[in-house]
Amino acid sequence: MLEQLYNRYEQLQDEMVAIRRDLHMNPELSHHEERTPAFVAEYLRGLGIDVRTGVGSRGVVGTLKGGKPGRTIALRADFDALPIQDEKDVPYKSTVPGVMHACGHDLHTATLLGVAKVLSEVRDDIPGTVVFIHQHAEEITPGGAAAMIEDGCLDGVDTIIGAHVMSHEPVGGVYTVEGYSSSAQDDFEITIYGKGGHAASPHTTVDPLVTGSQLVVNLQQIISRRVNPMHSAVLTIGSFQSGETTNVIPDKAVLKGTVRTYAPEARDLIEEAMERLTRTTCEGNGAGYEFKYVRDCPSIYNDPDATARVAKVAASIFGEDRVHEGEPMSGSEDFAYYTQHVKGTYFTAGGGNPEIGAEYPHHHPKFDVDERSMQYIGKTFIGTVFDFLEETEKTAEPGAAVNA
Ligand code: MN
Repeated sequence: MLEQLYNRYEQLQDEMVAIRRDLHMNPELSHHEERTPAFVAEYLRGLGIDVRTGVGSRGVVGTLKGGKPGRTIALRADFDALPIQDEKDVPYKSTVPGVMHACGHDLHTATLLGVAKVLSEVRDDIPGTVVFIHQHAEEITPGGAAAMIEDGCLDGVDTIIGAHVMSHEPVGGVYTVEGYSSSAQDDFEITIYGKGGHAASPHTTVDPLVTGSQLVVNLQQIISRRVNPMHSAVLTIGSFQSGETTNVIPDKAVLKGTVRTYAPEARDLIEEAMERLTRTTCEGNGAGYEFKYVRDCPSIYNDPDATARVAKVAASIFGEDRVHEGEPMSGSEDFAYYTQHVKGTYFTAGGGNPEIGAEYPHHHPKFDVDERSMQYIGKTFIGTVFDFLEETEKTAEPGAAVNA
């Protein structure tokens, strides 16, 4: 039956391209999506799928109950665009000034709608439930994932699969990463309180510029001397503000920056070490301080079993030579929140093709991808749905926990 479903999915390519291009021409910014979720909801309802709108404010969740009892698998696609002016020369160029689908979320949405169509046509043969999570606001903090989870989009879900098209890999490849695959993003702000005075009488002051300078250097040593070399981490101070003129020692300095990590151990260690170094550096200089550390998006954790399943399914569809071990992304992706609640995995598919101008990085004004990448993501979704539900149909009683 799977072969038939893959063939059916190929037949839908033109329809999915039309949807993708329509979304591309009508992009909507994070937390301002209206037309897109309305379209998604209407499309899913037209397939006879139960739809809940306004999930976590603007998300859409479709639930397709199969003809046989079983487990529940969720598939996720994001649908927001970016504040970028589209500079491509194509017929489907964005019609909204300053807003553009420059990350491929239009393609993710069309891909998942095609999957929903194929699966809805064979619902009686599905041994379980498929949940379609169409997420708003992926590109922003706070984003849509956490809000949708809070609003119940993962209730009853046993596993979740997400995917992203990647313009820097050629179309035709599928990439999986086991373990942590995107960086956790945290931001910090440190205020150092010194004592201002005349630049010629430093002995009557507590110079926050000198303390701040020491702190910049001390903080870098957390990465080089404290973090496990096997755990990648970045600590960047992107802003250091203090003082106005040549002959005044200011009374405070403000340092701002960001921390990126993969392993949670590194994240915990850095936050704790930063606080301690800030305290001791300031105390050593007689300065006061305020330390603010805000945890934004965590890392995606790709469960090894779920990842192996996706790789196996993709290899069975496209051949072993099409499926590769990918590298973790240096950026953040709020799919991470789903993987904190249920086991799952996030894979990527190549969308690059210089012959059609799909050769620019994500978030670039000329970003584009080869739409054939939809086939690689969509078929992998379809195959993984059946692989997961049929396996658990055999090995687990309905209602028994498989996420042990
Ligand atoms: Mn993206």
